[in-house]
Amino acid sequence: MKFDILTLFPEIFAGPLTESIIKRAVQAGIIDIAIHNIRDWGDGRHKTVDDTPFGGGAGMLMKPGPLAAAIRAVTGQRLDVGDGDSSPQPPIPQPLVIYLSPDGQPFTQRVAEELVGYHQLVLVCGRYEGIDERVRETLIDRELSVGDFVLTGGELGAMIVLDVVARLVPGVLDAASPGEESFGDGLLEYPQYTRPAAWQGQDIPAVLRSGNHAQVETWRRQQRLARTLRKRPDLLATANLSTADISYLHALGWKTAPN
Ligand code: SAM
Repeated sequence: MKFDILTLFPEIFAGPLTESIIKRAVQAGIIDIAIHNIRDWGDGRHKTVDDTPFGGGAGMLMKPGPLAAAIRAVTGQRLDVGDGDSSPQPPIPQPLVIYLSPDGQPFTQRVAEELVGYHQLVLVCGRYEGIDERVRETLIDRELSVGDFVLTGGELGAMIVLDVVARLVPGVLDAASPGEESFGDGLLEYPQYTRPAAWQGQDIPAVLRSGNHAQVETWRRQQRLARTLRKRPDLLATANLSTADISYLHALGWKTAPN
């Protein structure tokens, strides 16, 4: 899977993308990451990439031309609206061009599961007051927010999206267990323990040392349900719940939301 990141600050990515799991995935050729400096497509001798907003207002905006040229270059197939080119569209699979934006769709594990189906994601990082609306309307396929707050730039958001999607690519994680992690099945993860079995007067739950795999599985499922009910009851409305799960949740006091 290929990730292309369009940014005005490529150096920001050096640390997070060159360590640990992501680094090994790149080295193994499972994922490919390319960081592109939008300024390379900047206007004129000074490689200008920003300008003042029409109508006034604070701050600068990223100019449409350089960003559009950068997107076209990394996708190799998109053309500015109105440039008169009627050449045939390229074959699928299409890359997906994503703009990180506070007003985008909230980025969740479910969205990540969808994105992992694409062979190429292009992550566009805004800066200043953002990007020209016409680029959003013509060249951006999807807009994602990493939270209800305003970052100084889209780079941290792009790192989050890349990290979450990359670990879903087959072969990136050693253990094939994302389904049991938090948000797999729409539930939070169960509590986990490692050696020593007794620590500071606290013993681990006896079932985990019973050797009875069926009991361990039941305990873990119930812990996931109880933890989700306690910490994020909103998730239960869309979680994949069996009849036994629902009975267990009702016994814990869960009241299904009225339709
Ligand atoms: N003026 C914009 C607004 O009010 O929505 C905020 C611009 S912000 C200072 C600069 C860039 O940071 C944005 O273009 C976007 O790419 C990125 N950004 C900021 N907050 C974000 C968030 N919560 N999720 C994703 N990207 C964000």
